[in-house]
Amino acid sequence: MVFDAWLNVRQPEWNPRAGQEVLKFEEMTEEIEQVTRLQSLDLRIGELEREIATLPKHIAQIEKALDSHLRRLEADRAALAGNQKERKRLEDDSKVESQKISKLKDQMLGAKTNEQYRAFQHEITFCEEAIRKAEDRILDLMAEAEPLDVNVKKAEAALKEEKQQVEAEKARARERTAVDQKQHEQLVAERKVLVGGLKPQTHSAYERIRKKWHGVAVAEASEGRCSACHMVLRPQFFQDLRHSEQVMFCESCGRILYYNPPVSFEHDMAAQPHQ
Ligand SMILES: [Zn+2]
Repeated sequence: MVFDAWLNVRQPEWNPRAGQEVLKFEEMTEEIEQVTRLQSLDLRIGELEREIATLPKHIAQIEKALDSHLRRLEADRAALAGNQKERKRLEDDSKVESQKISKLKDQMLGAKTNEQYRAFQHEITFCEEAIRKAEDRILDLMAEAEPLDVNVKKAEAALKEEKQQVEAEKARARERTAVDQKQHEQLVAERKVLVGGLKPQTHSAYERIRKKWHGVAVAEASEGRCSACHMVLRPQFFQDLRHSEQVMFCESCGRILYYNPPVSFEHDMAAQPHQ
């Protein structure tokens, strides 16, 4: 977080001014520090709120995927059960036809005329034809059942694993949400204290600009530009900002600007033109 980084490295001895002016300058920088801290808190609070809102959606999504996989498995199981039921029925029918055939063969032995004999023969042929048809259909059903059976077994194994993953993910999300909510509470409390210490006009300006720009009300002035809208600052404005005793706003986007001085001696020297 850029604001945190700045707050951590900012030291009062960098202030080149002395005496009464220093006090005023430090008052101002304290206010800018508070505003940038507030900005950093609000960004983090926003991130946490988005994450807290996203986690239940994520869980709903993985549960929905699990549910659709479960339903596909159920459809395959139902198809397999239907297949087995039809096979059983065809096998039973074939048994009945076979019994009929042996009964007809017995009766055929007692046939008195050629006509009667042919009639039995005809009925037997009819039954044999029915058995053949049932056997053909049973073979088709067996061929259809094979991939269904493989699918069901695979899906059962995959679902078992997926259920465990979903449970683990839910547990992680619950933990994460609890951590987020705790941090959110702490930051909101810290924010309240911070806002209480701000000048009311600075706070209302901050809130107004934050609303206008959907979150970012404070920007760094860097290399003579506003880092948020990238407009070049007038040289005089930039000079004023560096030594300003009051909060200044970008003339283009209206955000509160802060100036981040060079942090190291070398950097400072490198920034100076040769004398
Ligand atoms: Zn700007």
